Amino acid sequence: MNSCPHWIQLFSEFDLVTKNGDASRTVIQTRNVEIGGDEFVTMAGPCAVESERQLLETAELVAEAGARILRGGAYKPRSSPYSFQGLGVEGLKLLAKARRQTGLAIVTEVMSPEDVEVVAEYADIMQVGTRSMENFALLEALGRCRRPVLLKRGMTATLAEFLRSAQVIAMNGNPNIILCERGIRTFENATRFTLDISAVPVLKMVSRLPVVVDPSHGSGVRCLVPVLARAAVAVEADGLLVEVHPDPAAALSDGYQSLSFPEFRQMMDDLDPYLAIRQQSRPARPRLLKVGGAD
Ligand code: PEP
Ligand code: MN
Repeated sequence: MNSCPHWIQLFSEFDLVTKNGDASRTVIQTRNVEIGGDEFVTMAGPCAVESERQLLETAELVAEAGARILRGGAYKPRSSPYSFQGLGVEGLKLLAKARRQTGLAIVTEVMSPEDVEVVAEYADIMQVGTRSMENFALLEALGRCRRPVLLKRGMTATLAEFLRSAQVIAMNGNPNIILCERGIRTFENATRFTLDISAVPVLKMVSRLPVVVDPSHGSGVRCLVPVLARAAVAVEADGLLVEVHPDPAAALSDGYQSLSFPEFRQMMDDLDPYLAIRQQSRPARPRLLKVGGAD
């Protein structure tokens, strides 16, 4: 596929994260997982770490169903200041325990530059939330950090603004960035956000970074998560970020968009034929530029 000439003007400034005429792609390695390589990587877990039991049960289940990375927020940016704000360091310790128990790598959010050090002690991948995409002090601190970064698209950010944030992390020394399309604000109100599915092929064509899709926040509606996950496979995303909870109705955050255990298992099973087609139809991969995540 040829990319669109208009994109040269839009994105050429972000030379550290775009392809610059060379087809190489970044593959991010963390523990025993490669993101942006041949495998479609599912990251799954609760919106927030709530308790030891909730997290460990979820970790066991998602690992058994085929997820490679456990997600879960210990520091939660919430729409309301009265909502659950996360367990902080206690939550990070529970994530580390779940990793020891299951072997899953950990992705968790960091909200401020002051917390980068402590989160990096426990996390394999540092998540930047949609509300922090333009927190440049945080992005600069993550640039100086050795951990890979999962950068979520700001809910009102254009793709150029999204890549500008990635460029800031890379400029500060960290090229290990995973882009995450998590839905944007539009006039549509049947869904919480509008998953911008076309963002995925645009980002895959212009950037050298892996791109994952978050169908949970992207729709805000549990029943849409599996179909949007299939769409992510079809548009050649490198993976998914999905919310799963043992009892979604009792979740302290984002229960209405979290899958139950049976729903997650079913979603993973239903992805298999789509992944098989994608594998068959993939052209030989261009030269891979491997960058290592520290562990
Ligand atoms: C999350 O992943 O739970 C989260 C808060 O995501 P976002 O920043 O995309 O809203
Ligand atoms: Mn959430």
